[in-house]
Amino acid sequence: MSVAKQLYRLQEVDVGIESAEQDLQQVTGRLGESKGVVRARNRLASEQQCLEELRHQQHALEWEVDDLGTKIAKIEQKLYGGNIGNPKELANFQQEAEGMKLRRGQLEDKTLDIMDQVERAAASVDTTISELKILEDEWQSEQKQLSAEAEQLKSTLSGLEQKRQRLSSEIDTEMVELYQQLKKQKGTAVAKVEQGMCRGCRISLSASESQRVRSGGLTQCSSCGRILFLA
Ligand SMILES: [Zn+2]
Repeated sequence: MSVAKQLYRLQEVDVGIESAEQDLQQVTGRLGESKGVVRARNRLASEQQCLEELRHQQHALEWEVDDLGTKIAKIEQKLYGGNIGNPKELANFQQEAEGMKLRRGQLEDKTLDIMDQVERAAASVDTTISELKILEDEWQSEQKQLSAEAEQLKSTLSGLEQKRQRLSSEIDTEMVELYQQLKKQKGTAVAKVEQGMCRGCRISLSASESQRVRSGGLTQCSSCGRILFLA
């Protein structure tokens, strides 16, 4: 096998390595926390907090209503117990009881309103929990798939790297160094010759260049310097 062909094969392996490395980088970049899941978790946390606050308000109101009920019962006990003879005192107690009943009615309305809000907030929390579950399931299966893809790419890469090592060990060190240098300078070190033209720079080869390439000797394009390879 000519050196040019050996180097061309090395180049093919290098192209494969670069492409697998890029794919791996892309896959690895998609591994990890999902923005959608994080957003849903944050929404759930704030909805749960809101629900807790509403429940707290509801309990406080219920407690206040109960407390007023006890106070009203005590006053009514006095009113109807027959122990108050003074009509002014009686009227005062009656007025106080009426005021408390009015207040209790208002608080009961407010409690109903809060209970309604609690119900809606609880429903919203349930919806978000279901949505989050779906997102987490999707995310988990995606992560699983991505991990498998990453493993596959790693094994492809290690296979290619072994192949590269084997190929380069079969080529003269000087040639490998020339290849590396050209690769660094031009991106691709080896250019195919097609229809008498260097595919690297698209300039036609001279007659003597063509002949050297055909004879299998290592030839660099006189225009771009790439190693010429005739397939
Ligand atoms: Zn060229």
